[in-house]
Amino acid sequence: MFHKNIKKKSDIQYKKIDLLVFPLKIKELESFHTYFEVRNGLQSLYEQNKIIGFVPTMGALHEGHLSLVREAQKECDYVIVSIFVNPTQFNNTQDLALYPRQETKDIALLESIGTDFVFIPTVEVIYPPNYQAPSIDLIGLDTVMEGEFRPGHFQGVVNVVSRLFDIVQPTIAYFGRKDFQQVSIIKHITKTLNQSVTIREVDTIRNQDGLALSSRNARLSEQELKDAVIISKVLKQGIQWARKFTPQEVLEYMVSEFNKSKLKLEYIQIVHPETLKEITHWVPGATACIASYCGDVRLIDNMELIPSN
Ligand code: AMP
Repeated sequence: MFHKNIKKKSDIQYKKIDLLVFPLKIKELESFHTYFEVRNGLQSLYEQNKIIGFVPTMGALHEGHLSLVREAQKECDYVIVSIFVNPTQFNNTQDLALYPRQETKDIALLESIGTDFVFIPTVEVIYPPNYQAPSIDLIGLDTVMEGEFRPGHFQGVVNVVSRLFDIVQPTIAYFGRKDFQQVSIIKHITKTLNQSVTIREVDTIRNQDGLALSSRNARLSEQELKDAVIISKVLKQGIQWARKFTPQEVLEYMVSEFNKSKLKLEYIQIVHPETLKEITHWVPGATACIASYCGDVRLIDNMELIPSN
């Protein structure tokens, strides 16, 4: 294997640059910006049948993203991370404008854990004038939950992920369960497009209070960070309640508990893990999903209430 010297989180050492603290790099990170740079840079690896792990991100990296890279490093010969804030998946222009961007720090973080390559394209590289987005029937997976509240969001995700897969040609791609519905849709599109990439799901990384890490957390005040803990608290209660009550009862309890908090609930749904349809009786893998606003920051999270087989 290529990585002999991967450092764990606790091993990362830090240096100061212009009063900001950056982690020390443990190896050189090669950066690509265009289609041809990626293809030329990876050509010899394709020819040697190396296992190429791919972690697509929108940057503002945190431990959640780094956990995907670490998972990839365990089973791949080389790991490439993309950083691209995809405009087509934002249905709210303010959300896009306010999305945190911190490229220098992102690169330092990737270097500190021994990432091999980073791909940072412009919008024109991802969507050239002649680009034709694939048209795929998302069989209703895109119209519930996030799809209902963020119309067009998943078409944007389909566009960017299928284009990134075309450019990078990864062996295995890594996605966080934090975006439960997204993983489900990506599995569906790779199957439908007959793409050879394997999709791996990685568990959600949380802070010590249980709040799922998210790039958007950077926009929360200290008080809001505390208030937002209600999301994971209610999900954890859901796991306990699921042992005794029906899905409808659990949903009612979760909604009423959530509504005692300062957050504004957009939805809580308890869904089937494959169809994403709301359930009336328990099935293995039944998952509760929450979307809510903490101040003006939209946060999502989910937990499996019934273990999958
Ligand atoms: P994003 O940059 O938000 O598009 O996320 C890039 C990838 O990181 C997606 O596959 C996310 O599901 C994953 N991700 C985001 N937050 C977390 C987290 N807290 N734990 C694990 N994976 C995460």
